[in-house]
Amino acid sequence: MLYKRSSDLFKQAEQVIPGGVNSPVRAFKSVGGTPIFIKEAKGAYLYDEDGNRLIDYINSWGPMILGHAYQPVVNTVIERAKKGTSFGTPTELETKIAELAVSMVPNIDKIRFVNSGTEACMSAVRLARGFTKKDKIIKFAGCYHGHSDSFLIQAGSGAVTFGSPNSPGVTQGTAKDTLLARYNDIDNVEEILEANKGEIACVIIEPVAGNMGCIPPKNNFLQKLRTLCDQHDVLLVFDEVMTGFRLAKGGAQELYNIKADIVCFGKVIGGGLPVGAFAARNEIMNYLAPLGPVYQAGTLSGNPLAMAAGLEMLKALNSDSEIYNRLEEKTKYLHKGISKVLIENKITHTINRVGSMISVHFAKDEVVDFETSASGNNQMFKDFFHGMLNQGIYIAPSAFESWFITDALSYDDLDNTITAVDRVSKQL
Ligand SMILES: *Cc1c(COP(=O)(O)O)cnc(C)c1O
Repeated sequence: MLYKRSSDLFKQAEQVIPGGVNSPVRAFKSVGGTPIFIKEAKGAYLYDEDGNRLIDYINSWGPMILGHAYQPVVNTVIERAKKGTSFGTPTELETKIAELAVSMVPNIDKIRFVNSGTEACMSAVRLARGFTKKDKIIKFAGCYHGHSDSFLIQAGSGAVTFGSPNSPGVTQGTAKDTLLARYNDIDNVEEILEANKGEIACVIIEPVAGNMGCIPPKNNFLQKLRTLCDQHDVLLVFDEVMTGFRLAKGGAQELYNIKADIVCFGKVIGGGLPVGAFAARNEIMNYLAPLGPVYQAGTLSGNPLAMAAGLEMLKALNSDSEIYNRLEEKTKYLHKGISKVLIENKITHTINRVGSMISVHFAKDEVVDFETSASGNNQMFKDFFHGMLNQGIYIAPSAFESWFITDALSYDDLDNTITAVDRVSKQL
């Protein structure tokens, strides 16, 4: 496939945007080559500036669970825009999406909307600290919770891809309050809790990790984490920015039947517009300004276009009783198909999957945490990525990302993808 125009556009972009991109992992740094500029998208496909059609497995990194340019979302955004794009006052739309979200997600009474997943996680941790009157937090190596200072301590995807897990600009003071645990290692969490008794505000986790590839919680890890948090009087924060409204209506809390104290959202909840949110029971949410002392605000928070898009997305997911089964079936089909051809072609690999999140690791051992994820064959991933791209399949340009399955993918698309994997893996 030819990428002449993308390559020209990238050179132009590099003159005025650092690295030519507004978010680092888009830059193809870890796989080499030039990022592809997209002109438009519809359903399961991206159409790039050079006239190629690509089957999309990134889906804007998660939000487009029903495919691109999903008609009800597009229509509502157009209609809302005609009535004004931002007022800086309350609107009825905000209450409607809040009511719907609260009805779909277990264990939350109130929700506050922000503009990104980063903002949601940052605010959730401030709220946890304010509510518990404690400073330290525990996060897991390889989990990503956005780019705010407290979380850039061995973060996943973008930061890991560049081999600089600790970003300059994050102060030692901030870093010392973030304690790192190993994913799926409950003894390690317990050790850290014991060593910091009475000092920890919360444990924050991706209940299914998606930013070091897809890594499911093993051996009742989440249940044990809940028990430990209760014993130590520490809040459990589920970062469901990726898993929320994707793994089930009620996200990972519903799928694993675990109650988190605070839940963060992003991605799907905005239907493709910039939205994040965090939610909890009344006791905690009432600690937030203007009711309580913990400050948090946003000029464009609850923006009418964004709320309208998110509301249509949640309505569509809420009213379709088969959606999560369909997504699961499609992902399982892809999993089986890819496994089969990789085995036939003698490619060492591990595939992880939960619901509509899936990742192919060129690693021989089970991938259960950051270390095992990082042990994959990176050169093979690069070759695989570019091979797939040549076959018209767009997967994330990093070995540390999940693929996201959308309902817009047909079984023909999945078969074509499996055929592409077969062709590419013969050349690996
Ligand atoms: C994407 C992501 C974030 C950050 O969301 P942004 O909207 O990119 O700021 C936080 N947590 C998780 C689990 C994510 O996948």
